[in-house]
Amino acid sequence: MTSLITSHPIFMATTVISQSQHNFPPRRVQLQLLRPTTRMLALSIKSDHEIMRQQMVADEDESFAMKGGEGPHSYAKNSIVQKGLIDGSKRLINEAISKCFDPKEHIHGDDEPSTPICIADLGCSTGPNTFCAMQTITEAIESQFQSHGLASQIPEIQVLFNDQVSNDFNTLIKNLPQQRNYYATAVPGSFCGRLFPKQTIHLVHSSAALCWLSKVPNEITDSDSSAHNKGRIHYTDAPKQVVDAYAAQYRKDMGNFLHARAQEVVENGLMLLQFPLSNVVLDSDVDPAKVFELIGNCLMDMAKVGVVSEDKVDSFNVPLIYPPVKDVKEILEGCDECFSIEGMEILQFKNMVSLPTVQIFVSWFRAALQGMIEKHFGAEIVDELFERFAEKVKEFPDIMDTDKLKLDVLFVLLRRKTKNKPKAMAMSNAHINGF
Ligand code: SAH
Repeated sequence: MTSLITSHPIFMATTVISQSQHNFPPRRVQLQLLRPTTRMLALSIKSDHEIMRQQMVADEDESFAMKGGEGPHSYAKNSIVQKGLIDGSKRLINEAISKCFDPKEHIHGDDEPSTPICIADLGCSTGPNTFCAMQTITEAIESQFQSHGLASQIPEIQVLFNDQVSNDFNTLIKNLPQQRNYYATAVPGSFCGRLFPKQTIHLVHSSAALCWLSKVPNEITDSDSSAHNKGRIHYTDAPKQVVDAYAAQYRKDMGNFLHARAQEVVENGLMLLQFPLSNVVLDSDVDPAKVFELIGNCLMDMAKVGVVSEDKVDSFNVPLIYPPVKDVKEILEGCDECFSIEGMEILQFKNMVSLPTVQIFVSWFRAALQGMIEKHFGAEIVDELFERFAEKVKEFPDIMDTDKLKLDVLFVLLRRKTKNKPKAMAMSNAHINGF
């Protein structure tokens, strides 16, 4: 065991599929298991503070993966909203890569083999959206090589698909596009901790995932705390203490996320992050607050007829946050020794998404919330809860009107600084609404 006590991550890799095919590199899928066992952890604690920190972050993580499989309630069949975000940011992804991805950094001398370009999609879920995003990114990278006259020297590309350990990676792997220009690897684990070896990632992408907190803040469910969120399932329309507790957890999670990526991303490596935000106080007159109010009301109605207990409803909270842009900017500025903000653009949610039917609207939330509802209340309440929710949505159809939805989407482009860059350069390029 002594040889395992190093500052490097511990890998166990299994090759699941390998076959050759014309025009593309051999197809290969790997599943990396990066979590040390308890025994290894005990050794790590004595030997390596950094590994200990990662493990603690991962152990605290309580967030839930989306509904797996390809059934009628699965994420794979109910993620057109998130697809809208990916389609809507295609232009920005292309611009970001064309502006900031330098193909010459990936070309070595004639005798040296080029190393693969590593792209990580953090919070990829089960597909198919992640495949669209990866296609956009890999094509943009290839066209950078072509436009620099380096078409014959495009390195191989590896895509690392990451999500929570509870994510349905089988569905993801089964549905990998037949025709693709990258090797695929699944990496289970929380992106709030370390996932990859140091300085190995050239581009990080994450869409609609950084809005999920790693856990419900402890004080929210503590009946002795002033932040106890009794009678609600979210911070929307809640007292300031509850809102502050969510915001503090968000700061902590984003801090951990950026700290981990700062170590994994190579110098000049890029991060393309997008997630929803809201610049208004979320009270129940404002969607999406209304959604959580209605689901909370359905649960309370079910408590009244004895389907669930009131205590259970009081201790249930959704760890989802729509932060104001000023909080996000502050957090990113706090990481200015490692990352420069090369661009930020706020996109309007209503221009990216349409919610045509009650069924699509309800299924969007069901695919996202089912896992945590099953864990908290038991699987038997899920159908009834969402039938009740569908009835409430019919009573308040405005809830589906994206023109009224007070949500925006933030697209951020970060670049990993080189080690010796003076601090004063940080943020010099940052601006909102434009690259
Ligand atoms: N990017 C995909 C999926 C978005 S849904 C798309 O655009 O369609 C959000 C995903 O983030 C979920 O699959 C969820 O499991 C994942 N997620 C949330 N918190 C996470 C964490 N801490 N670590 C890894 N994945 C996380």
